[in-house]
Amino acid sequence: MSFPYDAPVSQTLFDRASLVTPGGVNSPVRAFRAVGGTPRFMVSGSGPYLTDADGREYVDLVCSWGPMILGHSHPEVIAAVQEAVARGTSFGTPGEGEVALAEEIVARVEPVEQVRLVSSGTEATMSAIRLARGFTGRAKVVKFAGCYHGHVDALLAAAGSGVATFALPDTPGVTGAQAGDTIVLPYNDLDAVREAFAAHPGEIACLITEASPGNMGVVPPLDGFNAGLKELCAANGALYISDEVMTGFRTSKAGWFGVDGVRPDLMTFGKVMGGGFPAAAFGGRADVMAHLAPAGPVYQAGTLSGNPIATAAGLAQLRLLDDAAYAKVDAVSAEIRGLVGEALAKEGVAHTVQAASNMFSVFFTDRPVRNYEDAKQQEAFRFNAFFHSLLSQGVYLPPSAFESWFVSTAHDTQAVERIAAALPAAARAASEATA
Ligand code: PLP
Repeated sequence: MSFPYDAPVSQTLFDRASLVTPGGVNSPVRAFRAVGGTPRFMVSGSGPYLTDADGREYVDLVCSWGPMILGHSHPEVIAAVQEAVARGTSFGTPGEGEVALAEEIVARVEPVEQVRLVSSGTEATMSAIRLARGFTGRAKVVKFAGCYHGHVDALLAAAGSGVATFALPDTPGVTGAQAGDTIVLPYNDLDAVREAFAAHPGEIACLITEASPGNMGVVPPLDGFNAGLKELCAANGALYISDEVMTGFRTSKAGWFGVDGVRPDLMTFGKVMGGGFPAAAFGGRADVMAHLAPAGPVYQAGTLSGNPIATAAGLAQLRLLDDAAYAKVDAVSAEIRGLVGEALAKEGVAHTVQAASNMFSVFFTDRPVRNYEDAKQQEAFRFNAFFHSLLSQGVYLPPSAFESWFVSTAHDTQAVERIAAALPAAARAASEATA
């Protein structure tokens, strides 16, 4: 496949980066390996747009992989950051901003009685698993194939996101001891969960699931699936951990919990709650959280946890996310989904658009996708052609067929019109693509 749209400044930066950083990037999917070509180095973002180092503007459908739900450089978030930064950048002591952010999370998400702030989603899931093991005194963890919970050793088994993109069954460096207590099951299959509990009585500390998966593309839970998980965990003395790093504060004011109302024992958050800064969290039942140091014996800590700039940005963003904001993001997501479906149908391209509130993705197959095996059946080579056509026309998609697309309150009529104008050629490219 050729890439007609050259990007000389990005290419030069990528060449420089490749000399000093493995693969030229600090997070694998950014490298464009799945779709080919040169990653665009971005220099600024404003509302729904990103501008690259070659001076080209894109409608952004990645939104920093979810966090930028108000669009880029929202004036109120920027003002909060500027005000915080003027007071200093890190104190290594408690501060009011982290209390306010914790209060905001507790107020929004009813099952969260107490919360601990950390700096990345990976830290949040890693710590939640440790806490679940410490609380239950058990070792085993259940996860689902295609669900990604960050690069936690024990959870890098059949993971989604970059691991899916690169088709890595496992990761060298994760030992049998680290992954040996992880049980990987097919998503949306309650019988498999039932059988796992029956096969390991009294051994399973917790089950962790993406509240609604977005790391194998968007694959929502079937009706009753999350409720069934909760019930099986409760019946077997295991904790139910809902990973809302991606869905939290994005799919509704209270994240996916606000959509399906299934009450987890522990939850993890990241992305939107940091307003574009490194902030994440885990929280839940007060009796479980009481086991965390210094209140209890399970150790967990962080030099930059609750960082004043990150908490100021996150708090400013969350406070702007009212019902009207979610209605707007949901509406623009529905509009773009409709346009994409229409364009692909017109060219006769087999596709399925799947959504979980405003998160969505397009699978290049005409069958519904219910788990990771289904997701892998799609014709990903069509996505790659579709991606490059849109990129060359100034629309920036996630550079992989196994990722969610994200929109924001800033995606206005003009941005949607730009996408609409680019779609016919992209759909044609997808239809003409060959494996
Ligand atoms: N959990 C989920 C559901 C995610 O989508 C991600 C990241 O994409 C993580 C955890 C890890 O978060 P981070 O990349 O901040 O470590």
